[in-house]
Amino acid sequence: MGSVCLDLEVSQNKNMEKQDIKSMTLEEIKGIMGSLGQPPFRALQVYRWLQRGVSSFEEMSDLSKELRSRLQEQYYIPSVSIIRKQVSALDGTVKYLFGLLDGECVECVLMQYHHGYSVCISSQVGCKMGCTFCATGKSGFSRNLRASEILSQVQAAQKDCGNRISNIVLMGMGEPLDNYENVLRFLELVSSPEGMNIGMRHISLSTCGIVDKIYDLADRKLQLTLSVSLHAPNDKIRVKTMPINRRWGVEELLKACRYYGKTTGRRISFEYAMISGVNDSDSCAEELAGRLHGILSHVNLIPVNNVTGNGYVKSPPERLKRFIKILEKKGITATVRRTLGSDIDASCGQLRRRMQEEEMKA
Ligand code: SAH
Ligand code: SF4
Repeated sequence: MGSVCLDLEVSQNKNMEKQDIKSMTLEEIKGIMGSLGQPPFRALQVYRWLQRGVSSFEEMSDLSKELRSRLQEQYYIPSVSIIRKQVSALDGTVKYLFGLLDGECVECVLMQYHHGYSVCISSQVGCKMGCTFCATGKSGFSRNLRASEILSQVQAAQKDCGNRISNIVLMGMGEPLDNYENVLRFLELVSSPEGMNIGMRHISLSTCGIVDKIYDLADRKLQLTLSVSLHAPNDKIRVKTMPINRRWGVEELLKACRYYGKTTGRRISFEYAMISGVNDSDSCAEELAGRLHGILSHVNLIPVNNVTGNGYVKSPPERLKRFIKILEKKGITATVRRTLGSDIDASCGQLRRRMQEEEMKA
């Protein structure tokens, strides 16, 4: 009996020591193959299988049995499985709750636009940033996602819908710039020509404003679209809903945005959740227009979703129209973000939070 226990423990420890091969770049896999005495083209075979979304070495049918079992001994392949799926009766938007290998879960939303399929993916299990209006912020932080786990969401959504995903938004659960290394690695994998080959111009990243990382991202000159969740024109209002504003205020954040725009030549999207009586007054619009002056920008207004029980109320449509008018008069373009999947709570963080509540009740 004792020795069986010991064997189990040893094999579990072995599993923990295995490395995540799916987070590796083609170059890194070439290194592994070299150390196993294999030619470089084998690396390309393995990389292609991983980028196609296989979840076991068994499926890599053009590798010898021996090589497959050697890889199996040292590496593992993270993947996600569908735990829940909701389809909007209004517009076909699909919301997934994906399970990870350690039992954690993340959300992902698939949207169909006239120009193709777009997927909104998560970068962390939960989030540390604690924005008061956000369901993810409310549920706390569990862990960062690995590059392979971010990639697996795109693969799983594509496999499930049977159509090519052409656009990605990193706007699901978590703060992508708080999981910077893994997100950069994910971007490299998903845009690689030997992989899904989704170009940076088809990828957007949304941040609450981690200023040092915005500078770093700018210097990398990637062609991705940066969305900045601003939600207020000044520190006094912003600090009430976004704790990150204590670390970097509006002025510092916008300075980084100016730098980003200048360095990359790319327009920044500013997200602005309209909360009745909090940040939606005429004077807020005037102040916002003044602050954004000189930044290549576009403002996306989103009527706030009351998901956190904080009593936030959506600004009425007339307020949104008036807000846009003021911005436009001052030369700032703005639109109301189209809400998709409103019947299935398609904003991220809500499904996981509901699961947590159900678990607490059970
Ligand atoms: N952490 C990143 C990306 C994930 S949040 C960020 O904050 O930008 C994605 C977007 O949804 C952000 O613009 C966020 O501010 C917004 N959001 C979160 N909760 C919301 C709510 N209840 N109503 C409207 N927008 C919300
Ligand atoms: Fe985190 Fe973004 Fe939600 Fe804020 S809005 S808590 S940064 S996921």
